[in-house]
Amino acid sequence: MRIYESASPEETERVGEALARHLSPGAVVALYGDLGAGKTAFVRGMGRGLGVKDAVTSPTFNIVHEYRGKVPLFHFDMYRLSGASELYDIGWDDYLSAGGVCVVEWTENVEEAMPPFALHVKIAKTGPDRRRITVEGGGL
Ligand code: ADP
Ligand code: MG
Repeated sequence: MRIYESASPEETERVGEALARHLSPGAVVALYGDLGAGKTAFVRGMGRGLGVKDAVTSPTFNIVHEYRGKVPLFHFDMYRLSGASELYDIGWDDYLSAGGVCVVEWTENVEEAMPPFALHVKIAKTGPDRRRITVEGGGL
């Protein structure tokens, strides 16, 4: 397990960026944290780490955004989903085997769909601008 203390959105992005640089195609990052915790900020950093040029935005209304980078990034927002079956309906298994990195916001709603090798990243508010980022699983 690794714990990072972030004091700004930029710092949270840098943690995401550094983590993403160590990921291989097929990796899954399961994010946990309340609204405004900084999940999307973290994914923005991951995009930088993977060489994504397009702006990373919240996919809330689309469920999944696909970004082209050195490695493709598949960015899921499960806020409106009530269970893993809906995630399978949109082709979760195909995304898992598509050779990209999958990152999931609101993992809480689709927990059963996460593979055993997923990295779990929890972001908790510890102050107005402070966040504790806990990374575990996937050998960490
Ligand atoms: P989520 O996707 O978890 O709902 P966002 O990344 O969209 O969260 O938003 C996080 C909000 O919290 C932004 O308004 C951001 O400016 C603010 N914020 C303040 N401090 C931090 C921090 N240390 N890390 C990440 N976001 C922060
Ligand atoms: Mg978000």
